[in-house]
Amino acid sequence: MPRWKLNTEFTIDSAHFIQGYDGKCGRMHGHTYKVRMTAISTKLNPSAYLKTPDMVCDFKELKWAAADFEKGGLDHAVLNEVIPVVTTAERIAEYLHTETMKRLPDGIELIVTVWETENNWVEYTAD
Ligand SMILES: [Zn+2]
Repeated sequence: MPRWKLNTEFTIDSAHFIQGYDGKCGRMHGHTYKVRMTAISTKLNPSAYLKTPDMVCDFKELKWAAADFEKGGLDHAVLNEVIPVVTTAERIAEYLHTETMKRLPDGIELIVTVWETENNWVEYTAD
């Protein structure tokens, strides 16, 4: 069976603190989060911008979070005001997965990777 794996990467500058963390991560600070979205599909789909079924999904839908917070994304957001759970990289990846899946056609497997720093990252998918 054919299988396409669509990848895109972007960064988000955001502030956060880890509620309940006993240490410096419990104080407000910022990260340039790097995010990779990997969308895997065995069929191609139309999109809002292309009516014929020739893409896994539109890159724009995978990159919504890169937009300015005031335009619906997460760039220059205070993540604690947006994400209703503790803002660890694990939970941020889970949130990005949930919100991105709402924008994608059915049948896509999505893997979200979030780098909090260059050497620390988490990968999330839902089976
Ligand atoms: Zn942090």
